[in-house]
Amino acid sequence: MSNNEATLKPLSGKTALVTGGSRSIGAAVARRLAADGAAVAITYSASPDKARQVVADIEAAGGRAIAIEADAGSPEAVRAAVTRTVTAFGAVDILVNNAGIALGGPIDEIRFEDYERMIAVNVTGVFVATQEAVRHMPSGGRVIHIGSSMTRYAAFPTASLYTLTKGAVTGFNRSLVRDLGPRGITVNTVHPGPTDTDMNPDGGPVSQIVGPGMAIGRYGKPEEVAHVVAFLAGPQAAFVTGADVVADGGFTA
Ligand code: NDP
Repeated sequence: MSNNEATLKPLSGKTALVTGGSRSIGAAVARRLAADGAAVAITYSASPDKARQVVADIEAAGGRAIAIEADAGSPEAVRAAVTRTVTAFGAVDILVNNAGIALGGPIDEIRFEDYERMIAVNVTGVFVATQEAVRHMPSGGRVIHIGSSMTRYAAFPTASLYTLTKGAVTGFNRSLVRDLGPRGITVNTVHPGPTDTDMNPDGGPVSQIVGPGMAIGRYGKPEEVAHVVAFLAGPQAAFVTGADVVADGGFTA
């Protein structure tokens, strides 16, 4: 690789698995890692057409990508997705645990089945994907979780269940660095603030509440979260591990 190529494509020769890569933040991360030179596998659950479009866009730009149907709430499906990524690309250098859902409500009204589904997707999905991926992750590997600024600042009620799951990921992140550091693998969590996606559209009900709290005066864009993920995935972030990297437009400042 020439110096120029290393600068333009810092992830050249690397492989990435992005969970929940069919839409919104996950799709932006997949596109960005592919633009940086990585071969990218994305998982999806409910949006096969959008997943195919992400793959087509990456291929049209000269990159390599595959889409894998895998419900993050199914440990078997998640393990199979890692296996498929390794079969297709040879390893998993970068894992981005992005897939997430936001069920909730007032604490005395949350349905137990919603609690179980949130744990399955937002916590078990992260644990299983990480455990399986690191079995195939060489030195120089990267585990990057997508957390939430809600772990730092509870801006409104009804989000206790969501915050519980993201807090679990934050704790997982902290201790995992000790397991994986000696192997040359970093582990970090990116905490987005309010970001314009299907989950939390700019102009939607949540934005009415949190919009005025944005220090920079606007919602984030999925691409802005993807830039931070790309830095952590790249060679220049080799000394960053165990970090909670906040990308929230000053929402929790
Ligand atoms: P969206 O709901 O807009 O997109 C979610 C993505 O995850 C989709 O690609 C979806 O794919 C996938 N997904 C959802 N459930 C599953 C599942 N069970 N299995 C596999 N894939 C799944 O969410 P965002 O992009 O907004 O959020 C992405 C991450 O960022 C989440 O972890 C979220 O908690 C976090 N976050 C978001 C913030 C925001 O303001 N938007 C702020 C802070 C954190 P499909 O349709 O194919 O199921």
